[in-house]
Amino acid sequence: MLHATRFGRQLLTSGGQWARSAVGLSTHCKSLVLEQHGCPEEALHLKETELSSELLGDHDVLVNILAAPINPSDINTIEGKYPLKPALPGIPGHEGVGTVVAVGGKVTRMRVGDRVVPIEHSQGTWRSHGVFHEAHWYKIPKDLPIATAATMVINPPTALRLLEEFVTLQPGDTVIQTGATSAVGKYVIQLAQQRGVHTINIVRDRSSRPEVEKELKELGATVVCTAEEAPGALEVSGLDRPKLALDCVCGPAGTAVAKLLEPGGTVVVYGAMSKQPLSIPPHLLIFQDLRVRGFWLTGGYAQMKEGWKVKEQLADRVCALFRQKVIKPVPVDCMPLEQWQDALKRAKEGFRDCKVLLTNYPEDACV
Ligand code: NDP
Repeated sequence: MLHATRFGRQLLTSGGQWARSAVGLSTHCKSLVLEQHGCPEEALHLKETELSSELLGDHDVLVNILAAPINPSDINTIEGKYPLKPALPGIPGHEGVGTVVAVGGKVTRMRVGDRVVPIEHSQGTWRSHGVFHEAHWYKIPKDLPIATAATMVINPPTALRLLEEFVTLQPGDTVIQTGATSAVGKYVIQLAQQRGVHTINIVRDRSSRPEVEKELKELGATVVCTAEEAPGALEVSGLDRPKLALDCVCGPAGTAVAKLLEPGGTVVVYGAMSKQPLSIPPHLLIFQDLRVRGFWLTGGYAQMKEGWKVKEQLADRVCALFRQKVIKPVPVDCMPLEQWQDALKRAKEGFRDCKVLLTNYPEDACV
């Protein structure tokens, strides 16, 4: 559940009074607080308080959060439309990166100065500082740029698992995907190319289409087209029909990619950006044995026996892929936490071609 942490909850309820009574290291903290679900620009407000490291539990760490993205799931959570329901009031933000500034007496996994990312969802990363249980955060190499680290625990692992868990792909195979301009889509392109797998990438038409096509092809896309163009583009390309369709849009685009699959092919639905249902013509199910599956990163971890271990292994793999330059991070638009309303508006724009990050570092910092 999205929740204010133990420390976060005290911050919300006792605020300044608590800060005055605390002894020891005191940190000025800014948080975006959600009181009631609703439209994010109206449902949140910025709260400033003092945090004291004296109140750290034995296994707690005080983290200075440097940057946190605004992901579609954050918006859905604030609106109350996501399966993870926050305890209110709470602080949104499932992903981000920070530096450890204080540790409890029995903390073993990290030290002051370490760079850490949340390995557990719903940590409430849209704030400058927070106290968290050490088991919920994971140490990463310090040389990973802040913007890369802030966006590494959701989208790159999703792309890896989408390509690895549903269909066994061989070099020369084809994958088709909707939402190819999304962060997940861009990692799918790069990881598929690394495996010698071709990608057909569905984008929405736009005035900047040539630039978008150029960007995706530079990442390794084989074909970039709209949903309407896809049948013709597949024919011209000479590629085999796709074994796997990855759909984060649904609506007509989802139907279009399902129709192009080879018999027995698999559609994996992992998002619904169009906010429309997915319609699959019955003949594809009856005569072509099309398989339709769903994917949810967080829910999947929860069902695994040692989901935490899988998360850590994936985080290590993703760090290595970035450091070895096998995958390139997605472009970001960084906006200070104080400009959260503008940042939210920007994050909700279509055709934005970048991830919006809420930041807490000086303007001249190297990200
Ligand atoms: P980004 O914020 O990077 O990109 C958003 C994408 O959605 C863009 O490709 C954008 O296309 C597209 N889009 C926005 N509005 C619409 C619309 N009305 N119709 C069609 N396409 C639209 O997204 P992420 O990479 O962070 O996430 C992509 C999707 O994957 C989301 O739905 C997200 O919830 C889901 N996801 C699911 C996970 C899971 O575990 N199931 C894990 C991670 C992500 P355009 O460029 O044309 O605007």
